[in-house]
Amino acid sequence: MNIIDKRNSLARHNSRNYRRRSRSAITNIAIHHSATTSGSAEAFARYHVNQLGWPGIGYHYVVDKDGSISKCHDLEVVSYHVGNSNGRAVGICMVGDFRTQSLEAAQRNATLDLTLSLIDELNLAIEDVLGHIEFPGYSWKPCPSVSMNGFRNALYNRRGDLPQGAIPSRTYVAGARQRSFLSRGDQGDDVRALQERLTELGFDAGPIDGIFGPLTYDGVVRFQRSANIGVDGIVGPETRAALRDAQTPIDQIEHGSPTDEPDYREPSFTNESRRLLRYVIPVMRGEDVQEVQRKTGAMVDGLFGPETDRRVREFQRRENLTVDGIVGPQTWRALDRVRNTAARYERLLTLRRPFVQGDDVKRVQRELGVPVDGLYGPVTERAVREFQQSEGITVDGIVGPQTWGRLFN
Ligand SMILES: [Zn+2]
Repeated sequence: MNIIDKRNSLARHNSRNYRRRSRSAITNIAIHHSATTSGSAEAFARYHVNQLGWPGIGYHYVVDKDGSISKCHDLEVVSYHVGNSNGRAVGICMVGDFRTQSLEAAQRNATLDLTLSLIDELNLAIEDVLGHIEFPGYSWKPCPSVSMNGFRNALYNRRGDLPQGAIPSRTYVAGARQRSFLSRGDQGDDVRALQERLTELGFDAGPIDGIFGPLTYDGVVRFQRSANIGVDGIVGPETRAALRDAQTPIDQIEHGSPTDEPDYREPSFTNESRRLLRYVIPVMRGEDVQEVQRKTGAMVDGLFGPETDRRVREFQRRENLTVDGIVGPQTWRALDRVRNTAARYERLLTLRRPFVQGDDVKRVQRELGVPVDGLYGPVTERAVREFQQSEGITVDGIVGPQTWGRLFN
Protein backbone atom coordinates (compact mmCIF):
# COMPACT_ATOMS: atom_id res chain seq x y z
CA MET A 1 0.00 0.00 0.00
CA ASN A 2 1.17 3.45 -0.92
CA ILE A 3 0.07 5.63 2.00
CA ILE A 4 1.01 9.30 2.05
CA ASP A 5 0.76 10.99 5.42
CA LYS A 6 -1.04 14.33 5.00
CA ARG A 7 -2.18 14.74 8.59
CA ASN A 8 -0.21 17.95 8.97
CA SER A 9 -0.43 19.41 5.51
CA LEU A 10 -4.14 19.67 4.67
CA ALA A 11 -6.29 22.78 5.14
CA ARG A 12 -7.48 23.17 8.69
CA HIS A 13 -9.83 25.60 10.43
CA ASN A 14 -7.93 28.28 12.30
CA SER A 15 -9.91 28.01 15.52
CA ARG A 16 -12.05 24.90 15.48
CA ASN A 17 -10.90 21.35 16.25
CA TYR A 18 -12.51 17.96 15.91
CA ARG A 19 -13.01 16.14 19.15
CA ARG A 20 -11.12 12.89 19.81
CA ARG A 21 -12.19 9.42 20.94
CA SER A 22 -10.56 6.23 22.11
CA ARG A 23 -9.99 3.46 19.57
CA SER A 24 -12.41 1.22 21.38
CA ALA A 25 -15.21 3.63 20.43
CA ILE A 26 -14.74 2.72 16.76
CA THR A 27 -17.22 0.10 15.58
CA ASN A 28 -17.52 0.71 11.83
CA ILE A 29 -15.69 1.66 8.68
CA ALA A 30 -17.67 3.90 6.33
CA ILE A 31 -17.03 3.78 2.59
CA HIS A 32 -17.74 6.94 0.54
CA HIS A 33 -17.26 8.23 -2.94
CA SER A 34 -16.54 11.92 -3.40
CA ALA A 35 -19.48 12.39 -5.80
CA THR A 36 -17.09 14.46 -7.91
CA THR A 37 -15.49 13.08 -11.05
CA SER A 38 -12.06 14.21 -9.87
CA GLY A 39 -10.55 15.61 -6.70
CA SER A 40 -7.96 15.06 -4.00
CA ALA A 41 -7.52 15.14 -0.26
CA GLU A 42 -6.25 18.71 -0.63
CA ALA A 43 -9.31 19.84 -2.58
CA PHE A 44 -11.80 18.17 -0.23
CA ALA A 45 -10.03 19.64 2.80
CA ARG A 46 -10.28 23.14 1.33
CA TYR A 47 -13.94 22.62 0.51
CA HIS A 48 -14.82 21.27 3.94
CA VAL A 49 -12.93 24.01 5.78
CA ASN A 50 -13.47 27.06 3.59
CA GLN A 51 -16.96 26.40 2.31
CA LEU A 52 -18.53 24.38 5.09
CA GLY A 53 -16.61 25.74 8.06
CA TRP A 54 -15.60 22.32 9.36
CA PRO A 55 -12.53 21.89 11.56
CA GLY A 56 -10.77 19.88 8.83
CA ILE A 57 -11.35 17.38 6.04
CA GLY A 58 -14.27 15.02 6.73
CA TYR A 59 -12.47 11.78 5.85
CA HIS A 60 -9.74 9.80 7.58
CA TYR A 61 -8.47 8.45 4.27
CA VAL A 62 -8.83 9.47 0.63
CA VAL A 63 -8.04 6.91 -2.09
CA ASP A 64 -7.10 8.35 -5.49
CA LYS A 65 -7.91 6.71 -8.79
CA ASP A 66 -4.33 5.46 -9.17
CA GLY A 67 -4.60 3.67 -5.83
CA SER A 68 -2.48 6.05 -3.79
CA ILE A 69 -3.86 6.65 -0.32
CA SER A 70 -3.82 9.90 1.64
CA LYS A 71 -3.92 9.57 5.41
CA CYS A 72 -5.75 12.67 6.65
CA HIS A 73 -6.47 12.09 10.34
CA ASP A 74 -5.56 9.87 13.27
CA LEU A 75 -8.24 7.23 13.76
CA GLU A 76 -9.05 8.88 17.08
CA VAL A 77 -10.27 12.05 15.35
CA VAL A 78 -14.07 12.34 15.17
CA SER A 79 -14.43 14.00 11.78
CA TYR A 80 -17.65 14.65 9.88
CA HIS A 81 -18.86 12.15 7.29
CA VAL A 82 -21.79 10.07 8.58
CA GLY A 83 -23.77 12.48 10.76
CA ASN A 84 -24.82 10.99 14.05
CA SER A 85 -22.62 7.94 13.47
CA ASN A 86 -19.41 10.01 13.24
CA GLY A 87 -18.41 9.08 16.78
CA ARG A 88 -18.08 5.40 15.93
CA ALA A 89 -16.94 5.41 12.31
CA VAL A 90 -13.74 5.78 10.30
CA GLY A 91 -14.30 7.37 6.89
CA ILE A 92 -12.65 6.24 3.66
CA CYS A 93 -13.44 8.29 0.55
CA MET A 94 -12.75 7.06 -2.95
CA VAL A 95 -12.25 9.91 -5.42
CA GLY A 96 -14.89 9.63 -8.12
CA ASP A 97 -18.57 9.75 -8.87
CA PHE A 98 -19.63 6.13 -9.19
CA ARG A 99 -23.13 7.03 -10.26
CA THR A 100 -21.58 7.75 -13.64
CA GLN A 101 -18.00 6.43 -13.47
CA SER A 102 -16.80 2.92 -12.80
CA LEU A 103 -14.50 1.96 -9.99
CA GLU A 104 -11.28 0.68 -11.60
CA ALA A 105 -9.01 -2.05 -10.26
CA ALA A 106 -6.15 0.07 -8.88
CA GLN A 107 -8.45 2.21 -6.74
CA ARG A 108 -10.68 -0.68 -5.74
CA ASN A 109 -7.79 -2.92 -4.69
CA ALA A 110 -6.11 -0.14 -2.72
CA THR A 111 -9.39 0.54 -0.90
CA LEU A 112 -9.87 -3.17 -0.15
CA ASP A 113 -6.32 -3.47 1.21
CA LEU A 114 -6.68 -0.36 3.32
CA THR A 115 -10.02 -1.57 4.69
CA LEU A 116 -8.61 -5.00 5.58
CA SER A 117 -5.65 -3.47 7.39
CA LEU A 118 -8.00 -1.21 9.38
CA ILE A 119 -10.23 -4.17 10.22
CA ASP A 120 -7.17 -5.88 11.71
CA GLU A 121 -5.89 -2.80 13.45
CA LEU A 122 -9.27 -2.02 15.02
CA ASN A 123 -10.32 -5.60 15.63
CA LEU A 124 -13.49 -5.27 13.55
CA ALA A 125 -15.40 -7.72 11.34
CA ILE A 126 -16.01 -7.47 7.62
CA GLU A 127 -19.70 -6.98 8.38
CA ASP A 128 -18.74 -3.76 10.19
CA VAL A 129 -17.73 -2.23 6.86
CA LEU A 130 -20.72 -0.25 5.62
CA GLY A 131 -21.39 2.08 2.75
CA HIS A 132 -22.44 5.59 3.74
CA ILE A 133 -25.96 4.73 2.53
CA GLU A 134 -26.11 1.82 4.99
CA PHE A 135 -25.75 4.05 8.05
CA PRO A 136 -28.94 4.98 9.91
CA GLY A 137 -30.67 7.91 8.27
CA TYR A 138 -28.87 7.76 4.93
CA SER A 139 -30.99 5.48 2.79
CA TRP A 140 -31.58 8.48 0.53
CA LYS A 141 -27.90 9.11 -0.14
CA PRO A 142 -26.36 7.50 -3.22
CA CYS A 143 -22.96 7.05 -1.57
CA PRO A 144 -20.69 5.28 -2.42
CA SER A 145 -22.78 4.06 -5.38
CA VAL A 146 -20.96 0.73 -5.56
CA SER A 147 -22.47 -2.56 -4.37
CA MET A 148 -21.51 -2.92 -0.73
CA ASN A 149 -22.36 -6.63 -0.70
CA GLY A 150 -19.95 -7.01 -3.60
CA PHE A 151 -17.37 -4.95 -1.72
CA ARG A 152 -17.69 -7.07 1.43
CA ASN A 153 -17.53 -10.28 -0.58
CA ALA A 154 -14.34 -9.00 -2.17
CA LEU A 155 -12.96 -8.40 1.33
CA TYR A 156 -13.75 -12.03 2.26
CA ASN A 157 -12.15 -13.29 -0.95
CA ARG A 158 -9.06 -11.18 -0.49
CA ARG A 159 -8.63 -12.44 3.05
CA GLY A 160 -9.35 -16.02 1.95
CA ASP A 161 -12.48 -16.44 4.09
CA LEU A 162 -15.94 -17.56 3.18
CA PRO A 163 -18.82 -15.18 3.90
CA GLN A 164 -20.33 -15.90 7.27
CA GLY A 165 -23.90 -15.80 8.44
CA ALA A 166 -26.85 -15.34 6.12
CA ILE A 167 -27.55 -19.06 6.42
CA PRO A 168 -31.27 -19.52 7.15
CA SER A 169 -31.78 -21.39 10.40
CA ARG A 170 -34.43 -23.89 11.43
CA THR A 171 -36.60 -21.11 12.79
CA TYR A 172 -37.15 -19.79 9.27
CA VAL A 173 -40.89 -19.54 8.59
CA ALA A 174 -41.59 -20.34 4.97
CA GLY A 175 -44.79 -19.61 3.06
CA ALA A 176 -47.13 -16.71 2.57
CA ARG A 177 -48.38 -16.59 6.16
CA GLN A 178 -47.74 -13.20 7.76
CA ARG A 179 -47.03 -13.06 11.45
CA SER A 180 -48.78 -10.20 13.31
CA PHE A 181 -45.50 -8.90 14.65
CA LEU A 182 -42.00 -9.06 13.23
CA SER A 183 -38.93 -8.00 15.17
CA ARG A 184 -35.22 -8.57 15.47
CA GLY A 185 -34.23 -12.23 15.18
CA ASP A 186 -37.28 -13.33 13.18
CA GLN A 187 -36.66 -15.22 9.96
CA GLY A 188 -39.01 -16.14 7.17
CA ASP A 189 -40.64 -15.31 3.91
CA ASP A 190 -42.66 -12.56 5.63
CA VAL A 191 -39.37 -10.94 6.66
CA ARG A 192 -38.18 -11.24 3.08
CA ALA A 193 -41.38 -9.51 1.88
CA LEU A 194 -40.78 -6.76 4.45
CA GLN A 195 -37.20 -6.28 3.22
CA GLU A 196 -38.38 -6.09 -0.36
CA ARG A 197 -40.99 -3.47 0.51
CA LEU A 198 -38.51 -1.35 2.50
CA THR A 199 -36.02 -1.49 -0.36
CA GLU A 200 -38.68 -0.54 -2.84
CA LEU A 201 -39.50 2.51 -0.73
CA GLY A 202 -35.84 3.51 -0.65
CA PHE A 203 -35.13 2.36 2.92
CA ASP A 204 -32.30 -0.04 2.25
CA ALA A 205 -32.72 -2.91 4.71
CA GLY A 206 -29.55 -4.79 3.80
CA PRO A 207 -29.50 -8.03 1.83
CA ILE A 208 -32.94 -9.49 1.11
CA ASP A 209 -32.34 -12.75 2.95
CA GLY A 210 -35.43 -13.21 5.12
CA ILE A 211 -33.43 -12.53 8.28
CA PHE A 212 -34.49 -9.62 10.52
CA GLY A 213 -30.99 -8.46 11.51
CA PRO A 214 -29.55 -5.04 12.43
CA LEU A 215 -29.82 -3.60 8.90
CA THR A 216 -33.48 -4.57 8.63
CA TYR A 217 -34.05 -3.08 12.06
CA ASP A 218 -32.39 0.17 10.93
CA GLY A 219 -34.52 0.21 7.81
CA VAL A 220 -37.71 -0.24 9.82
CA VAL A 221 -36.73 2.51 12.27
CA ARG A 222 -35.89 4.94 9.46
CA PHE A 223 -39.18 4.17 7.77
CA GLN A 224 -41.16 4.62 10.99
CA ARG A 225 -39.54 8.00 11.60
CA SER A 226 -40.28 9.32 8.15
CA ALA A 227 -43.84 7.96 8.29
CA ASN A 228 -44.42 9.76 11.61
CA ILE A 229 -45.57 6.64 13.42
CA GLY A 230 -44.29 5.02 16.61
CA VAL A 231 -40.56 4.26 16.34
CA ASP A 232 -39.73 0.89 17.90
CA GLY A 233 -38.22 -1.20 15.10
CA ILE A 234 -41.11 -3.65 15.39
CA VAL A 235 -43.45 -4.33 12.49
CA GLY A 236 -46.98 -4.51 13.87
CA PRO A 237 -50.35 -3.45 12.44
CA GLU A 238 -49.56 0.29 12.37
CA THR A 239 -46.24 -0.11 10.58
CA ARG A 240 -47.70 -2.66 8.21
CA ALA A 241 -50.50 -0.25 7.23
CA ALA A 242 -47.99 2.57 6.73
CA LEU A 243 -45.79 0.32 4.59
CA ARG A 244 -48.79 -0.62 2.49
CA ASP A 245 -49.93 2.99 1.98
CA ALA A 246 -46.53 4.62 1.40
CA GLN A 247 -45.94 6.11 -2.03
CA THR A 248 -42.95 5.13 -4.12
CA PRO A 249 -40.39 6.27 -4.69
CA ILE A 250 -39.54 8.55 -1.79
CA ASP A 251 -37.79 11.71 -3.03
CA GLN A 252 -34.04 11.48 -3.11
CA ILE A 253 -31.60 14.32 -3.43
CA GLU A 254 -28.07 14.34 -4.70
CA HIS A 255 -25.11 16.62 -4.32
CA GLY A 256 -22.47 17.49 -6.85
CA SER A 257 -19.85 18.12 -4.22
CA PRO A 258 -18.35 16.17 -1.34
CA THR A 259 -20.72 17.20 1.41
CA ASP A 260 -20.79 14.40 3.90
CA GLU A 261 -22.35 15.14 7.20
CA PRO A 262 -21.25 16.67 10.46
CA ASP A 263 -22.76 15.37 13.64
CA TYR A 264 -25.81 17.49 14.44
CA ARG A 265 -25.18 16.92 18.12
CA GLU A 266 -21.78 18.61 17.90
CA PRO A 267 -22.25 21.53 20.27
CA SER A 268 -20.42 24.17 18.26
CA PHE A 269 -20.75 23.54 14.60
CA THR A 270 -20.61 27.28 14.10
CA ASN A 271 -19.44 30.00 16.45
CA GLU A 272 -23.08 30.75 17.16
CA SER A 273 -23.87 27.06 17.80
CA ARG A 274 -26.31 27.02 14.96
CA ARG A 275 -27.14 23.77 13.28
CA LEU A 276 -26.28 22.96 9.73
CA LEU A 277 -29.64 22.70 8.02
CA ARG A 278 -30.51 20.93 4.84
CA TYR A 279 -33.08 18.74 3.18
CA VAL A 280 -32.72 15.18 4.48
CA ILE A 281 -35.24 12.45 5.19
CA PRO A 282 -36.56 12.42 7.84
CA VAL A 283 -36.78 16.19 7.51
CA MET A 284 -35.14 18.53 9.99
CA ARG A 285 -37.51 20.65 12.02
CA GLY A 286 -37.30 23.52 14.46
CA GLU A 287 -37.27 27.24 15.03
CA ASP A 288 -34.02 27.63 13.12
CA VAL A 289 -35.77 26.09 10.11
CA GLN A 290 -38.56 28.64 10.50
CA GLU A 291 -36.01 31.43 10.54
CA VAL A 292 -34.49 30.16 7.29
CA GLN A 293 -37.95 29.88 5.77
CA ARG A 294 -38.94 33.41 6.77
CA LYS A 295 -35.76 34.88 5.35
CA THR A 296 -35.79 32.97 2.09
CA GLY A 297 -39.50 33.40 1.45
CA ALA A 298 -40.38 29.72 1.87
CA MET A 299 -43.61 28.62 3.49
CA VAL A 300 -43.05 28.84 7.26
CA ASP A 301 -43.96 25.44 8.69
CA GLY A 302 -40.71 24.61 10.48
CA LEU A 303 -40.05 21.56 8.28
CA PHE A 304 -37.02 21.63 5.97
CA GLY A 305 -38.60 19.99 2.93
CA PRO A 306 -38.14 20.28 -0.85
CA GLU A 307 -39.70 23.74 -1.06
CA THR A 308 -37.34 25.15 1.57
CA ASP A 309 -34.45 23.48 -0.22
CA ARG A 310 -35.47 25.26 -3.43
CA ARG A 311 -35.80 28.63 -1.66
CA VAL A 312 -32.41 28.24 -0.03
CA ARG A 313 -30.84 27.50 -3.41
CA GLU A 314 -32.52 30.58 -4.92
CA PHE A 315 -31.22 32.64 -2.04
CA GLN A 316 -27.70 31.23 -2.47
CA ARG A 317 -27.80 31.98 -6.18
CA ARG A 318 -28.86 35.60 -5.50
CA GLU A 319 -26.11 35.98 -2.92
CA ASN A 320 -23.40 34.38 -5.10
CA LEU A 321 -22.82 31.57 -2.62
CA THR A 322 -22.17 27.91 -3.34
CA VAL A 323 -25.58 26.67 -4.48
CA ASP A 324 -26.02 23.42 -2.56
CA GLY A 325 -29.20 23.93 -0.52
CA ILE A 326 -27.19 23.59 2.69
CA VAL A 327 -27.53 26.24 5.38
CA GLY A 328 -24.00 26.19 6.80
CA PRO A 329 -21.92 29.01 8.28
CA GLN A 330 -21.62 30.96 5.05
CA THR A 331 -25.34 30.88 4.26
CA TRP A 332 -26.21 31.66 7.89
CA ARG A 333 -24.03 34.78 7.69
CA ALA A 334 -25.79 35.87 4.51
CA LEU A 335 -29.17 35.22 6.15
CA ASP A 336 -28.12 37.38 9.09
CA ARG A 337 -27.62 40.30 6.73
CA VAL A 338 -31.24 39.92 5.61
CA ARG A 339 -32.45 40.76 9.09
CA ASN A 340 -29.98 43.56 9.71
CA THR A 341 -30.88 45.56 6.64
CA ALA A 342 -34.59 44.96 7.17
CA ALA A 343 -34.75 46.80 10.45
CA ARG A 344 -35.27 50.35 9.19
CA TYR A 345 -38.76 51.60 8.34
CA GLU A 346 -38.79 53.68 5.15
CA ARG A 347 -42.30 54.20 3.80
CA LEU A 348 -45.96 53.27 4.08
CA LEU A 349 -46.92 50.05 2.30
CA THR A 350 -50.50 49.79 1.17
CA LEU A 351 -52.61 47.97 -1.42
CA ARG A 352 -53.03 50.16 -4.51
CA ARG A 353 -52.60 49.91 -8.27
CA PRO A 354 -50.04 49.59 -9.63
CA PHE A 355 -48.82 47.53 -6.70
CA VAL A 356 -46.16 49.05 -4.48
CA GLN A 357 -42.92 47.29 -5.26
CA GLY A 358 -39.53 46.90 -3.57
CA ASP A 359 -37.15 45.14 -1.24
CA ASP A 360 -39.08 46.32 1.81
CA VAL A 361 -42.15 44.53 0.41
CA LYS A 362 -40.03 41.39 0.03
CA ARG A 363 -38.96 41.64 3.65
CA VAL A 364 -42.54 41.90 4.80
CA GLN A 365 -43.47 38.92 2.62
CA ARG A 366 -40.60 36.85 3.95
CA GLU A 367 -41.53 37.67 7.51
CA LEU A 368 -45.16 36.73 6.91
CA GLY A 369 -44.36 33.58 4.98
CA VAL A 370 -46.15 34.57 1.78
CA PRO A 371 -44.63 34.19 -1.72
CA VAL A 372 -41.80 36.70 -2.11
CA ASP A 373 -42.40 38.58 -5.36
CA GLY A 374 -41.78 42.09 -4.06
CA LEU A 375 -45.29 43.27 -5.01
CA TYR A 376 -47.71 44.48 -2.34
CA GLY A 377 -50.77 42.63 -3.69
CA PRO A 378 -53.96 41.20 -2.16
CA VAL A 379 -52.26 38.05 -0.77
CA THR A 380 -49.71 40.16 1.08
CA GLU A 381 -52.37 42.56 2.26
CA ARG A 382 -54.46 39.72 3.65
CA ALA A 383 -51.42 38.32 5.46
CA VAL A 384 -50.76 41.77 6.93
CA ARG A 385 -54.36 41.96 8.18
CA GLU A 386 -54.05 38.53 9.79
CA PHE A 387 -50.79 39.56 11.38
CA GLN A 388 -52.30 42.79 12.72
CA GLN A 389 -55.22 40.87 14.13
CA SER A 390 -52.95 38.38 15.87
CA GLU A 391 -50.91 41.27 17.31
CA GLY A 392 -54.02 43.09 18.57
CA ILE A 393 -53.24 46.29 16.64
CA THR A 394 -55.40 48.25 14.16
CA VAL A 395 -56.40 45.96 11.31
CA ASP A 396 -56.10 48.05 8.13
CA GLY A 397 -53.81 46.01 5.87
CA ILE A 398 -51.34 48.90 5.79
CA VAL A 399 -47.73 48.55 6.92
CA GLY A 400 -46.95 51.76 8.75
CA PRO A 401 -44.37 52.36 11.47
CA GLN A 402 -46.36 50.41 14.08
CA THR A 403 -46.88 47.27 11.99
CA TRP A 404 -43.31 47.47 10.69
CA GLY A 405 -42.09 47.64 14.27
CA ARG A 406 -44.13 44.60 15.26
CA LEU A 407 -42.81 42.69 12.27
CA PHE A 408 -39.13 43.41 12.72
CA ASN A 409 -38.36 44.62 16.23
ZN1 LIG B 1 -20.61 9.62 1.72
